[in-house]
Amino acid sequence: MQNDPRSHGLWELTAPPASETHALAGSVEADVVVVGGGFTGFSAALHLAERGSRVVLLEGKEIGFGGSGRNVGLVNAGMWTMPDELPGVLGQLYGDRLLDLLGNAPKLVFELVEKHAINCEINPAGTLHCAVGRSGLEELETRAEQWARRGAPVTLLDAAETARRVGTDAYAGALLDMRAGTIQPLAYVRGLAKAAIAAGVQVHTASPVVGAERTGKRWTVKTDRGSVSADWVIVATNAYTVAPWAEVRAELVHLPYFNFATKPLSPELQRKILPGREGAWDTAEILSSFRFDKLGRLVFGSVGALRGTGAAIHKAWARRSLKKLFPEIDGVEFEAEWYGMIGMTVDNLPRFHRLAENVIGFSGYNGRGIAPGTVFGKVLARHIAGEIVEGDLPLPVTEPMAQSFRPIREGYYEVGAQLAHLVQARI
Ligand SMILES: Cc1cc2nc3c(=O)[nH]c(=O)nc-3n(C[C@H](O)[C@H](O)[C@H](O)COP(=O)(O)OP(=O)(O)OC[C@H]3O[C@@H](n4cnc5c(N)ncnc54)[C@H](O)[C@@H]3O)c2cc1C
Repeated sequence: MQNDPRSHGLWELTAPPASETHALAGSVEADVVVVGGGFTGFSAALHLAERGSRVVLLEGKEIGFGGSGRNVGLVNAGMWTMPDELPGVLGQLYGDRLLDLLGNAPKLVFELVEKHAINCEINPAGTLHCAVGRSGLEELETRAEQWARRGAPVTLLDAAETARRVGTDAYAGALLDMRAGTIQPLAYVRGLAKAAIAAGVQVHTASPVVGAERTGKRWTVKTDRGSVSADWVIVATNAYTVAPWAEVRAELVHLPYFNFATKPLSPELQRKILPGREGAWDTAEILSSFRFDKLGRLVFGSVGALRGTGAAIHKAWARRSLKKLFPEIDGVEFEAEWYGMIGMTVDNLPRFHRLAENVIGFSGYNGRGIAPGTVFGKVLARHIAGEIVEGDLPLPVTEPMAQSFRPIREGYYEVGAQLAHLVQARI
C-alpha cells in the first residue's frame, strides 16, 4: 500500500485484493457523502445503502489506509476505561448506554462477517488481558468484577491457567473475555467496502476532500477533480484526518504503535503458545500485544514508531522480548513490520461531533476501533435514516477541543517509547 512496507505490513501481504475503485471526477448527487474509508466510514455507508440511501464514499488514499488497515486486529469489547468509571465521566444515562453498545459491539462485527461472507481470518476465540505483577492482577480483578456485575462473560484466570493458555509463566493471571476475538483488519475493511459497493455505495479512492460548502439545504463536498452534493456529510477521518475538518485531528494526540510478524512458527510452538488462539495484550504501562494470524505467524507489537532511530531500537526490543517471553522461539525471523497512529483523547473516551448542520461523525477511539468503529458507523446510518433521534445516541454532542501541547506530547510518546525499549527487555 502506497509502496511502503511499513504502513500495512503483514495485512497487506495476506489480505484479499481491494475492490477496484477510481478517483472522483465531475459532479455527483447523493443523499449522504461519507468522508474516510475505514471501519466507521464503510459501516456507515453500508448500513445507509441497506436503508435505501444514495451514498458516495470519498477516501483520500486507499481503502483501509488509516488505522483500519494497520491495527493489531483485537476485536475488543468496551474501552480502556474501567466500566464503572464511564457513568462518572459521561453521566449515568450515556455511561450505561455506551457500555451496553460497546460491550456488544464485537457481536456486530462477527455478524457482518458472516452475513457478507467476508474472508478476514475471523476468530471469536476471546482475548486474554495478561497481568504484569501484583498491580496488574489487582487492575484485572477490579475490571473482572465490574464487567461480571454487568453480566459480561469474563473470567479471571490464575497464574497457572494463564501460563497454560499463553505459553509463558511471565504473567500473574489474565482476564479472559469471550465476547472478543481476532481478525485480519485490512481484509475486514476491504470486505466491508465490497459489501457496501454491492449494496450500491459509490466508492472513490485517491479522492481527498479539500473543502465543503453549504448551498441552500445541501452540502457540496469538493475534491481536486470533482464534487458531491448531498444532504448529509459523515466525517469518518478520525486520527488520519487531513483538512478540511482539521479540528477532529487537533483533538487527538497520536500514539504510535508497531507490530512485527514472525515467519509461521512450527506446529509444536503453535501448540504451546496461545493454543486456544486468543488475542493477547498486557497491563504494562508501555503495553505489548501478541496474537497469531491464520498461518501461525506471531504478531508482536508495542508502543513506538518504526522510523528514524526507532526502527532499529524497537526491532531489537521485539527480538529480546519475544525470546524472554517464549525462549523456545530461537533466532526469531520477522516477515513483516509496520506501524500506525492511534488517536488518543484526554479521557480515553470517544467523541460524537456535529461539525456543522448535518455534518456529523464519531472519532477518538483510543486504540479500540474495530468493534466501536463498526457499531458507531451503524449508529450514524440509523440516525440519518431517522431511526435514532439525537437524544438517544450513545454519546452526547460535544465541540472538538484541541489538545494543548499536542506536538510535544506526540514527540514525548515517540521518544519515550524508544528510551523505554532501549533499557527494557520485558518484565
Ligand atoms: C497500530 C494500531 C493498532 C491498533 N490496534 C487495535 C486493535 O487491536 N483493536 C482495535 O479495536 N483497534 C485498534 N486500533 C484502533 C483502530 O485501528 C482505529 O480506531 C480504527 O481503525 C479507526 O477507524 P476509522 O474508520 O474511524 O478511521 P481510519 O481507519 O483511520 O480511517 C480514516 C480514513 O480517512 C481518510 N481521510 C482522512 N482525511 C481525508 C480527507 N480529507 N478526504 C478523504 N479521506 C480522508 C484516511 O486516509 C483514512 O483512510 C489500532 C490502531 C493502530 C494505528
